[in-house]
Amino acid sequence: MNKFSSNNFTKLFLVFLSIVIASVIIICDIGINSLEKGIKLENKKYVDELTKSVADSFNKRIENNINALEIIAMEIGKGSQRVDLESLNKSSEIMEYEHIYILYPNGMLTNGDIEIPLYEDLPEIMEVFEGKNIITRESMKHLGNDGNYEVNNGFTFAVPVYDGNGQVVKAVVACTNADWNKDLSSQSYFDGAVYFHIIDTKGNYVIQANNAYSQELFESDKFKIYSNIYEVIENNVILRDGFTLEDYKRAVEQKEKYVLSFCFRADNLPRLAELYPLEYGDLLLNLSVAGNATTLHMTNIMQTIVILNIVIVAFFVLLSLVLFLVYKNSRSMALEDSITKGYSNLRFQIEAKEKIEKSPADTYAFLSVNIDRFKIINDMFGTEKGDETLKFVHDKIKQHLKNEELICRSSSDNFDVLIKNRTDSEILKFLSEIVEDIVKVLNEKPENKNYLLSLSVGVYHIDDTSIPIVNIRDRAIIARKKNSDYIVKHICSCGFYSDEERERLREEKEMENKMESALINNEFVVYLQPKVNFKDGKFAGAEALVRWFDKDKGMIPPDKFISFFEKNGFINKLDIYVFEQTCKYIRKWIDAGVEPVPVSINLSRAHLENKDFLKPYVEIQKKYNIPSKLLELELTENLLLENPKEVMDAIKKIHQAGFLCSLDDFGSGYSSLNILKDLDVDIIKLDRAFFRSPDVVEPKEKIIVGEVVSMARQLGMMTVSEGVETEAHVNFLKEIDCDKGQGYFFSRPISEEDFEVLVYGRKL
Ligand code: C2E
Ligand code: MG
Ligand code: MG
Repeated sequence: MNKFSSNNFTKLFLVFLSIVIASVIIICDIGINSLEKGIKLENKKYVDELTKSVADSFNKRIENNINALEIIAMEIGKGSQRVDLESLNKSSEIMEYEHIYILYPNGMLTNGDIEIPLYEDLPEIMEVFEGKNIITRESMKHLGNDGNYEVNNGFTFAVPVYDGNGQVVKAVVACTNADWNKDLSSQSYFDGAVYFHIIDTKGNYVIQANNAYSQELFESDKFKIYSNIYEVIENNVILRDGFTLEDYKRAVEQKEKYVLSFCFRADNLPRLAELYPLEYGDLLLNLSVAGNATTLHMTNIMQTIVILNIVIVAFFVLLSLVLFLVYKNSRSMALEDSITKGYSNLRFQIEAKEKIEKSPADTYAFLSVNIDRFKIINDMFGTEKGDETLKFVHDKIKQHLKNEELICRSSSDNFDVLIKNRTDSEILKFLSEIVEDIVKVLNEKPENKNYLLSLSVGVYHIDDTSIPIVNIRDRAIIARKKNSDYIVKHICSCGFYSDEERERLREEKEMENKMESALINNEFVVYLQPKVNFKDGKFAGAEALVRWFDKDKGMIPPDKFISFFEKNGFINKLDIYVFEQTCKYIRKWIDAGVEPVPVSINLSRAHLENKDFLKPYVEIQKKYNIPSKLLELELTENLLLENPKEVMDAIKKIHQAGFLCSLDDFGSGYSSLNILKDLDVDIIKLDRAFFRSPDVVEPKEKIIVGEVVSMARQLGMMTVSEGVETEAHVNFLKEIDCDKGQGYFFSRPISEEDFEVLVYGRKL
């Protein structure tokens, strides 16, 4: 009720687990969908980004080349002596140039040594004198090392050189070296699945991709090589998704960005191409991507997986957070009792254990307190009032605790209390103060008058600090459950634990383990104690009394086991067994031809709970065919206190079955003599307690016993006196006209054989 149960915890955990699983499924679903879309959409976006970054790096590269030339041009313009074209040419390679020249407005080129005319087929370069930076893919003839002209296949750059008046007087011209081109054309990404060309606004390749991937494609039989991209498209390509060559051409001519999807006839692989204008000259970048290129695909998957992972991790973090909160919550629940708001059982046990272990023996006492019949309070007033009562009792006890003393509600209506340095009488005083307090409060409000609040308490003085707290607690419980030693203020019973108590429990456990087999093995033996008729002194009956002959322990008297068997219910079986044995004896006597004496058999209270309890008795009687007047069932007087109605019903049934019925141990309880007139029993058995002294019968008892006998006679009941031990007893009983006597004076309970010899004079 008060604790956060593991069941609740599991439920909560499962709910969260389900949420996480559901979320992961949803996210995976979204992920897969987005993957599919990703191939179409994300590729485009990705291609766009990639194209832009390739174009940027190309632009940057050209810019760097131009910058290098501009610096040289400025130095030349200033007439700096430091510009030595010959040495510049030597280090041109570092600047990614093949040759660096000075160009004069008359079209003459010089590299420092020689002057050569600029060929007319490079008119674009002459535009440099208009103050423009020129970048052209036009090849430029130059003098090779062997003195002959060579053709350079790279780019030619030209920047103007200004004089002090801002006039263009010369230009610096340089051609990129072979590496520059090669470097660019072989660039590729994602293992070659992405590559690019640089084209001019007429569609001519300026730099054509030359990586392994494109080579493979270009080398294919189905692929025709052209120097113009339009022809490549016309002859090698299938345009997809409605793209047309015209649109592409228009975009190229106008230096516009353009994306198109296509595939080569050679490999039929869907691709995307993006056209991207470059900053310098009439150049455009044409970047191609295999649309379903595994690498790209994988990138998308990887991205999705990364996102998924982040989400899953986030969920688990959340879950852990929730579990942590739940744990924290349950921990606090575990430390506090939800009803009393005091210590939980767990907290009590931890702290009590610590205190006990730290202190010498006999420092602390452990109390187990139970509210009697708490269930009735709950039933009558509802659980809310029940809970209030629990808190009320808890608080009242707590008010009387000193420092270092602890209390908790250990289970439904039980409290564990640890108190310090108190003797038995101090504990009783402590309890009586608590009880007084409780009664005071109950009396304050009239509606509380209906509360039947009573407590039972068991006390164990912790004389052994080494035993586990659970066992300490058990000892207090044992003390609580035993017949209480003290009654405090009428509403609190209190028992103190002793080692005998533990011994008794151990014995009970042992008996429980053995009883069934003992019954089968005939270890229970029915003894008979004769009853003597005072009038003629003859044997006039017997009482069947059971003994247990255990193979290890020898004879165990009924006082040791009857009350325990009444508690555990085994008495029902045992009584019937005794009855059957008795019937066997009587049958034997009848069959032997002697005058059989009637035998009384004790009937335990446990039978009365069952309204058909007599059925097996009648069956057995019939089985052995015993006249019912020879069988007498004894009901103990104590039963009248507990449930007189049940006893009266039982008597009626016993009579209906034809048996005699006696009231055993009369006078041992507190029944008034008056009750006799309401009881339809045949025989009253006077308790042996009347004869405390062997020699004389006390005057007071004489009066009582005399009264009982006289009253019984008047009511037509027979009287049998138990515990007749001496002649004095016999004389007194004869005097008051008691019918029969049973006791050691005549005989102890004896075995059936001995009984036969005693009563019938021989073994039958
Ligand atoms: P009970 O029915 O009152 O039995 C009489 C007890 O008094 C017997 O003790 C008997 O041995 C004892 N007794 C007889 N004469 C004297 C005497 O002169 N002086 C003294 N001091 N004691 C005497 P026992 O056999 O130990 O039985 C004790 C109780 O156990 C019985 O009391 C009865 O209540 C119960 N009991 C015995 N056998 C059975 C049984 O088979 N079924 C049930 N339900 N209870 C049984
Ligand atoms: Mg008896
Ligand atoms: Mg008796």
